[in-house]
Amino acid sequence: MEIKKGIAVSPGVAICPAMVLDVEDHKIPRRTVPRADLPLQHARLDEALGRARQEIDKLRKSVESDHGRELAAIFGFHLAMLSDKALLDTIHKMIDDEAVTAEYALSIVMRKYAQTFMAQTNEVFRERVADIYDVEKRVLHELVEDVQADLKTLDREAIIVTHDLTPSQTASLDKVHIRGLLTNVGGRTSHTAIVARAMGIPAVVGLEDITSVVSNTDQLIVDGNRGLVIINPDPDQLDEYRATLERIRVHRAELIDLRELPAETSDGVVVKLQANIEFADEIAPALEQGAEGIGLYRTEYLFLSTETDPDEQSQYEAFKAAIEALGGKPMTIRTLDLGADKYTQRQARVPEANPFLGCRSIRFCLQNLTMFKTHLNAILRASAHGPIRVMFPLISNMLELRQARMILNDVMEDLEERKVPFDRNVPVGMMVEVPSAALMSKAFATEVDFFSIGTNDLVQYTLAVDRSNEHVANLYSPAHPAVLALIKDVIRSAKRHDVDVSCCGEMAGEIEYVMLLIGMGLRTISMTPAAIPEIKRVIRAVSIKDCERVARRVASYDSERQVINYLREETRKVAPEVFDGRAIV
Ligand code: PEP
Ligand code: MG
Repeated sequence: MEIKKGIAVSPGVAICPAMVLDVEDHKIPRRTVPRADLPLQHARLDEALGRARQEIDKLRKSVESDHGRELAAIFGFHLAMLSDKALLDTIHKMIDDEAVTAEYALSIVMRKYAQTFMAQTNEVFRERVADIYDVEKRVLHELVEDVQADLKTLDREAIIVTHDLTPSQTASLDKVHIRGLLTNVGGRTSHTAIVARAMGIPAVVGLEDITSVVSNTDQLIVDGNRGLVIINPDPDQLDEYRATLERIRVHRAELIDLRELPAETSDGVVVKLQANIEFADEIAPALEQGAEGIGLYRTEYLFLSTETDPDEQSQYEAFKAAIEALGGKPMTIRTLDLGADKYTQRQARVPEANPFLGCRSIRFCLQNLTMFKTHLNAILRASAHGPIRVMFPLISNMLELRQARMILNDVMEDLEERKVPFDRNVPVGMMVEVPSAALMSKAFATEVDFFSIGTNDLVQYTLAVDRSNEHVANLYSPAHPAVLALIKDVIRSAKRHDVDVSCCGEMAGEIEYVMLLIGMGLRTISMTPAAIPEIKRVIRAVSIKDCERVARRVASYDSERQVINYLREETRKVAPEVFDGRAIV
């Protein structure tokens, strides 16, 4: 049994065997195993070798029939390698001598083997090195279940253990079989974390070396509330966590009873609770949690898992399906926020040195007008089917906003000319997620219909802290007085100009911040759907007067520690069962 501590990013508990994904570059970490497990390692190696041989043989036959014997000969060399007794004995011996995993012994021995070929003066030998790596990779895939490409359809329940996942990989995870997610890297608002929360799977990130410590099929407990992972737990821990799982189930069932009730403060002020989504199929579960609409639809996810960009018709159909699923409830569609950590396959081929400060989001759209116009066409056509708003992300200067609006107008005119139905009065707004936009919110308020404060990026850019870097996660805090001052300014500017304002950053779904956000004047917040019942519970327990008092007090603090401690105290006072429910494990 071993316990690892990371960053808790998605609550809940999972008890299940691990599935360790192929690590970067096939660098297999050294991991020793108890002597008693050595026979298992030998068996795993033999089975993997057997499967690899079968595959290569199949490949050899098909290449031979399609392209002739000469080309197929290369696979003969691969097969010979996998039957080379001296080579295989060396791997088995290393497992015994060093008590290490089969994958580690295989990768070390094969690499040494490749080096001996590399050292030869004869060119023919040196050309074989690539083949050796190819064979190594093939057997490793058999040993460490290279399921990166196949995360959509797993054949067993599993807690995924991996270095990192791209947002698109996370989005395409097999929802039926994945019980938990553990990564070496990441932070609370990294997109992997956001998607894990949206899927309701417990997740812990920033574990640094979890891929080296856990091996495939190890039994794990993931404690997504405390950020703990227990590897091969003892029977007492298993009993304890099974009891916790049951308590969480009861707690959630109690909260869901609030679904039909309004998010109304004790003095009768109603706060609108909306949901953030990445895909249209998240709408039905969001409504079940009590969402009164969608405050943020991250449309870029439509682009992340396809090799080519989706065309106008498929985008239109996705938006239309979302509108129909909402049955008249409003939806804010954010235009493409690609770039930074959300690359399309095409963008990924030309990585930027500083992607979070690079050509991301609205900047990327303004440089790729054909793609942007296709996207806007699809959104506007969908607007004929229900109440939507269009929101531009990452606006950092006035020119960008005006350009984006101009292009939207062009697209509208074109649709009018072609007599395609759409909503001419669709509200147009912007994310406020860059400090320059927050500081200029007075000016922006005269040019938009609404603001949505994106605290995930606002914190990152205000505090110069990468939102997905576990090494600086302790510095990443929405409670920082500088961030709060910006939020306050934005709300004030919006109110003065009668512009609708909401918050859709992850902060909006964290119970500690509810009183503060309401006290600062927000009446609409949008969050990960699973957080809605808890947030509603807190709102129903407070008065506006309480919230304003909290906001005033917070404004007098000069450190995020003071702010967060105070907010936790106040939240616990008004809604102890929610607070303790969170800390249930
Ligand atoms: C934000 O930055 O707060 C936000 C909601 O957008 P995203 O998390 O998609 O960057
Ligand atoms: Mg953002």
